[in-house]
Amino acid sequence: MPQSLEVVLATHNAHKVAEFQQILGAEFPGITVLPYDGPEPVEDGTSFDENAFIKARAAASHTGRIALADDSGIAVDVMGGSPGIFSARWAGPGRGAEANLELLLAQLGDIRDPHRTAHFHCTIALVVPDASGGEPHEFAAVGAWPGRIATERAGVNGFGYDPIFLPDGFDVSAAELAPDVKNAHSHRARAFRALLPELERVARFG
Ligand code: IMP
Repeated sequence: MPQSLEVVLATHNAHKVAEFQQILGAEFPGITVLPYDGPEPVEDGTSFDENAFIKARAAASHTGRIALADDSGIAVDVMGGSPGIFSARWAGPGRGAEANLELLLAQLGDIRDPHRTAHFHCTIALVVPDASGGEPHEFAAVGAWPGRIATERAGVNGFGYDPIFLPDGFDVSAAELAPDVKNAHSHRARAFRALLPELERVARFG
């Protein structure tokens, strides 16, 4: 029974490679997460899943290796799931996380608490090339972290929308949680948990 698996992660971000290695390696010690330095495709999908698969397919076909890619963001119910796939550039390209967060708070200014429900979403796409040139095997692991949008920011941990996200079951924002607490509950943690059995299956049976 093979105990090892090499996967390439479709990102040029070294921190993300280290994060995936740490989280997946804790449950699956035989895994090696490799960085990807090939061309980055245009992310022109219309959903988290499509964008994750665009990145994972590009890395799998460029390297010939098993590839992973993630795509995530925040979805506000009263806004029909926006910012959604536009989370990273909600206030406009290059405006940054602070501007994104402030714009979302302003847009929800008149919305009272029972209607401020939201969730973080994460899709991790897995693409396993077929050794004999057939169709690749594909699998999507998804994780959702439900909560509400606060009326003002709080906390300094984390990144992005964390200061205005109040996860269900906590009295504080995601940016007030200790990093290990966030990492145990987040949308990414949930997607990783959904991915592991599939990675172990691929390691065993190809
Ligand atoms: P990416 O898919 O990791 O690039 O994330 C896309 C965007 O979603 C980020 O730029 C953030 O705005 C938002 N986002 C994703 N995950 C989180 C999180 O854990 N906390 C806060 N914001 C997040």
